[in-house]
Amino acid sequence: MEANTIEQIQKGLREKKFSATELARSSFEAIRERDGKLHAFLEVTEDLALEQAKAVDEKIAKKESAGVLAGVPLAVKDAILVKGVRCTAGSRMLEHYVAPYDATVIQKAKDADAVIVGKTNMDEFGMGASTENSAFGPTLNPEDETKVAGGSSGGSAASVAAKEALIALGEDTGGSIRLPASFCGVVGLKPTYGSVSRSGVIALASSFDQVGPFARTVEDCETLFNVIRGKDPMDATSVELRDSVPKFLGTESLSKLRIGVPKEYFGEGLDPAVESVIKSALQSFEEAGAKLVEVTIPHVPYALAAYYVINTSEASSNLARYDGIRYGASKEGTTLLETYLRTRGEGFGQEVKRRIMLGAYALSAGYYEAYYVKAQKVRTLLKQDFEKAFEKADIVAGPVSPTLPFSLGAKTQDPLSMYLVDIYTVPANLTGLPALSVPAGKAGSLPVGMQFMAPAFREDVLFQAGSMLEHFQKL
Ligand code: GLN
Repeated sequence: MEANTIEQIQKGLREKKFSATELARSSFEAIRERDGKLHAFLEVTEDLALEQAKAVDEKIAKKESAGVLAGVPLAVKDAILVKGVRCTAGSRMLEHYVAPYDATVIQKAKDADAVIVGKTNMDEFGMGASTENSAFGPTLNPEDETKVAGGSSGGSAASVAAKEALIALGEDTGGSIRLPASFCGVVGLKPTYGSVSRSGVIALASSFDQVGPFARTVEDCETLFNVIRGKDPMDATSVELRDSVPKFLGTESLSKLRIGVPKEYFGEGLDPAVESVIKSALQSFEEAGAKLVEVTIPHVPYALAAYYVINTSEASSNLARYDGIRYGASKEGTTLLETYLRTRGEGFGQEVKRRIMLGAYALSAGYYEAYYVKAQKVRTLLKQDFEKAFEKADIVAGPVSPTLPFSLGAKTQDPLSMYLVDIYTVPANLTGLPALSVPAGKAGSLPVGMQFMAPAFREDVLFQAGSMLEHFQKL
């Protein structure tokens, strides 16, 4: 069954080469073959998928028009609610929590006739860069099973890379779509803050969180983004986007493209193996006529600290709801305090507890101005840096990660070294800007992703640049 893109699936369904039910079954087969080892999925939703696939097959049989994702196997990060299906956020706290409604993005995917094949593994509540902080065990990298898949949406990236699903939904608060996309060799988009609804998505840090697509091609990534984006009355921070502009048509348009290369993205700490893949990708753009311009984002050195102050502050507040009474694995004590202590003590993992403590500290009277307020000021300065850079360039490009996919266990005992992996991804979350990770080549057997960032709501430019890079890879 040759169906590697959304378009090929639509064509195959139309020409009756296969049915949506057969597609779903071949996805389960791939999962049975590889997932015992990879552990991309926390739960496979066979019944739901077969029901959705059957509905698609019936529509096609009746010659009714089917949605743009008709029959497409979709994997969903386990932080996104799918009605009637467990939603754990990778935490013991929510191990038995069943979603009472669909997230808006799921409703949209269902309306487009996608087939949801399962819920994917993630770092607990999205806190991590390797999926090793999942309470249910790590996800391995399909390209090299001794390496991590990246995180926190490691299961979604791995499921697409291992061809267990064609596309997937993830969530990116500080790189959680782009990093695993880069590590697993797939395409991943962190949309502009506000372009995708957060309704029905388990919150980590609400001023950063954005749901976004994973796919094997830039075009499929764009298709899924177009399905999920748009204003939602259930999320007051969501906004309506204008329709996308015409696509890049030929190499002649490349001469109009100015690619900003920030020097802060090529400094100390960048693995030379990553640097050489990224530099040669930039060179391909230049040879094809694009202009490379040096830009500077002077506040990048402060981004990581600001991100972790705001992330932990918002997380400590968002996670206060897991008190054993309204949600979560309740562990009853003889007093209310004991119920809280047991529920939170046993339900949360180490990294979650660390962040709650850090965040509560940063928000406490006396420290609030010194940490939280200062971090918000860095955010404004970074925004201004990017505004200046975008006067000289249409997009900014650089690496997604300073390192190659690392070995399982290499960073689990040293949380700071895990945080450092986020150095190049968090600026897009701090500023709200859209950012895309596209495979740029390999270092040995390990994939390296290139990151493109654009002005707010200019995902169209990211997709154009991403398609060009994809094109260079095929040459
Ligand atoms: N590594 C980031 C963190 O731990 C990833 C967060 C995310 O994007 N969910 O905060």
